Amino acid sequence: MTAGTSAAEAGDRLPPVIRDVPGQEHATAFLARALEHPHHAYLFAGPEGSGKRLAMRAFAAALLCPSGGCGECRACRLALGERHPNMLVLEPTGPDILVGKDAADPNTARWFAARAYLTPPEPGRKVMVVLQADRLRIEAADVLLKVLEEPPTDTVFILLSARPIDLPETIRSRCQEIAFPPLSEDFVVGTLVREGVEEPRARLACRLSGGNLGRARRLARDERDLAARDLVVRVATEARGDPSAALAAVEELTSAAKDYRKGLGEDLKEELVPFLDDKGKPEEPFRGVVRRIEEQHERRLRRAEREFLDWSLQALAAYARDQVVVASGGSSEMVIHLDMPAGGWEAVPAARAMGWVEEARADLADETNLNARLVLERLFLRLSAI
Ligand SMILES: [Zn+2]
Repeated sequence: MTAGTSAAEAGDRLPPVIRDVPGQEHATAFLARALEHPHHAYLFAGPEGSGKRLAMRAFAAALLCPSGGCGECRACRLALGERHPNMLVLEPTGPDILVGKDAADPNTARWFAARAYLTPPEPGRKVMVVLQADRLRIEAADVLLKVLEEPPTDTVFILLSARPIDLPETIRSRCQEIAFPPLSEDFVVGTLVREGVEEPRARLACRLSGGNLGRARRLARDERDLAARDLVVRVATEARGDPSAALAAVEELTSAAKDYRKGLGEDLKEELVPFLDDKGKPEEPFRGVVRRIEEQHERRLRRAEREFLDWSLQALAAYARDQVVVASGGSSEMVIHLDMPAGGWEAVPAARAMGWVEEARADLADETNLNARLVLERLFLRLSAI
């Protein structure tokens, strides 16, 4: 942005889809300029929740839209939903992105690379996206590097990473890097308030989500996440000094996790409806898209219970942290659960509890650890001894 140009004036010149990416003026101004002569590869670097994925979708829409990102047409709508037939997305299906056996091995580097040189399903450009690019295994990164070294024409690669430092230097140096700094609390709260959320609720959602705007928006609108938080704090409080209540707490949490999985399954089915014909079969141009959505759904459902438990334990760790803050004389302005009175725990046991909860989260994040119930029992029995 040159001196003498106000942010508002510069904003008016952005394509509508790019203008809608919140809170990242530098990145969006850069992307708008890049649209004139797109480079063959970009790396969007910044922490979770800083808006990289929204910006990727908007940039893809601007690259695929006949009018440069109107935000209204079919191409824009499909790209904004990551459903455009000319968009290919590679993401980890387990802990890493693997190299794969061959081009037919879906969601692997070889599969992705082979598609880079194919004619796209619809006329125009291709946009090839790698989510969590720092999780490319070394052999997978080598395969991707070859493609970046001999980029196919009319193809733009967009890599996303919260840990760009973990990417091989050879890949980083082939990409133009765009920084997405974390969004400030004032920005997240202000955005939610403008969208009609009451200020206290907006601030609570912002703190509980660690400043992640998408997550904060869901928390502010959907009662289910807050209900999960209320549940875990209640059962943890009941478990104090009572081992049998600790085991009952585990029971309640695991059954709530199952309910969450069931509800999610219903929600996900709805997402497929627009791409199916009257007989419930995918419409021809969307075959690949539907397959990808179904695979994503399977993965999400497989992880749903762990995801629910992780979110609950994250809220519980924050609750223990609030207790430490208050017990050691910190201001009540500093707490995360702004709507819950902290106090009643002593600082040292509360700090110890926080460590145990984080330990349990790490155990649950390990997918080879099959027994979630055992992890929870150990945690709640420890908490009952406080
Ligand atoms: Zn458009």
